[in-house]
Amino acid sequence: MMREHTELYIDGAWHAPIQESFLELTDPATGKEHVRAVLGGEADIDAAVAAAERAFVSYSRTTPQERIALLERILVEFDKRAEDLAQAVVDEVGAPRALARGVHVPTGRSQIVTAIEVLRTYAFTEMRGETRIRKEPLGVAALITPWNFPILQPVGKTVSALAAGCTVVLKPAEATPSPTFILAEIMEAAGVPAGVFNLVNGLGSVVGPRLSSHPGVGVISFTGSLPTATRVSIAAAPTAKRVVSELGGKSPHILMPDGDVDVAVETALNWLMATTGQLCSAPSRTLVPRERRDAFLSALVPAVEAIRVGDPRDEDTTMGPLVSAEQWDTVQGYIRAGLDEGARLVTGGPGRPPGREEGHFARPTVFADVDNAMTIAREEIFGPVMSVIAYDTVDEAVEIANDSPFGLAAYVTGEDLEAATAVAERMRVGYVLINDAEFDWSAPWGGYKQSGNGREFGPDGMAEYLETKVIRG
Ligand code: NAD
Repeated sequence: MMREHTELYIDGAWHAPIQESFLELTDPATGKEHVRAVLGGEADIDAAVAAAERAFVSYSRTTPQERIALLERILVEFDKRAEDLAQAVVDEVGAPRALARGVHVPTGRSQIVTAIEVLRTYAFTEMRGETRIRKEPLGVAALITPWNFPILQPVGKTVSALAAGCTVVLKPAEATPSPTFILAEIMEAAGVPAGVFNLVNGLGSVVGPRLSSHPGVGVISFTGSLPTATRVSIAAAPTAKRVVSELGGKSPHILMPDGDVDVAVETALNWLMATTGQLCSAPSRTLVPRERRDAFLSALVPAVEAIRVGDPRDEDTTMGPLVSAEQWDTVQGYIRAGLDEGARLVTGGPGRPPGREEGHFARPTVFADVDNAMTIAREEIFGPVMSVIAYDTVDEAVEIANDSPFGLAAYVTGEDLEAATAVAERMRVGYVLINDAEFDWSAPWGGYKQSGNGREFGPDGMAEYLETKVIRG
């Protein structure tokens, strides 16, 4: 089925862009054309920002109770469209249906629920002695999102901004636009006032600089790669607007000397392979005690070889394709670099899995005897490729974990919770999961070092859209 999006959502109505053009997208599992999405230009960004500025005048003065009521209506409409959203993620990201329904949709939904909860208790005004301190919405929020989580990222940013009292211009990633067109329909159905939420799909290289440099924008929340974040920050600098960046990772996973190997394997499958490695926080470096390396690999390899790579619409598929031909080429390049630099291939490798000649399917791949200086241990691959690195002492493991330009997430598997927590505290990352713990989607999310700055989700995420004012009198 061909999906077609012909209009942008600006100022509470659907409009053809001022200069019409389209992007045709191909299905990652079949390589066949399946989406035709309209592209906006600079003039559409100007129209959207102007609408958002106009709407800000009254929307910024709404009470938290009014915004709770609005978010509750958005939640009702989101639930009505849950299956459409899941299907769009299956088709465009290539995520298996269970992942789309069980992770992509509920994590997006959780952001709406959290925003409502935050608003129930958040203190927008406090008195410090005679001094009144107010938290006020920053203005128009420009939201620029990546393709890999096209429900969570756009919904999370949008509801945090709306909860804060900001108005929004959303620019989704080119490769997976349909969930955000559905999101705009959700906003319309929920009765979000005109101009409060605007959607401009477009090429990042065309509309991105206009949005980032726009004097009418008060804050940018960007999720994507460091090279793009650099462009956004440079374009934003002359207007001194806040830029929150959520970027890539090369997240370490430390199997402690007393850690349960099965739990470590689960962590690898859930957080790296299930998303075809297309997760910013994927545990792509696994650090194992040298004397336990063979035991770990003996448990890991059969589990990885049991992964069923296939069409995300087939019920028994457990790993879908990569999103695009370009991403497939990138991943192949890294697998070759691993081989060239002397890592030991234990399973997977170059090329497509047998019987998967169409589409962008890669083989779940594990390298052992990886040195942390190798390309595959330093750069974000964004594919189903794991580097296993041996360590001799826990101190050395922490050192290797921190020896990375990134600092997004980390994982620790260990029986002694105190020792595992002590290791977590020493890692320069924004989020650590111990023993495959359940993720808390209302806790602050973000990175250290080149994984970004600022936080999103929950009260800390909303605070990025607020500025502080002092009143004394
Ligand atoms: P990307 O940097 O290529 O694109 C991100 C967004 O920026 C897209 O919407 C794109 O159109 C837009 N863009 C491109 N050029 C622009 C410009 N000059 N000005 C403004 N916007 C521009 O990233 P991607 O390939 O879509 O996403 C993958 C990356 O995102 C990975 O590095 C991944 O780790 C990261 N990511 C991080 C998180 C997180 O929470 N930290 C979450 C998901 C993905």
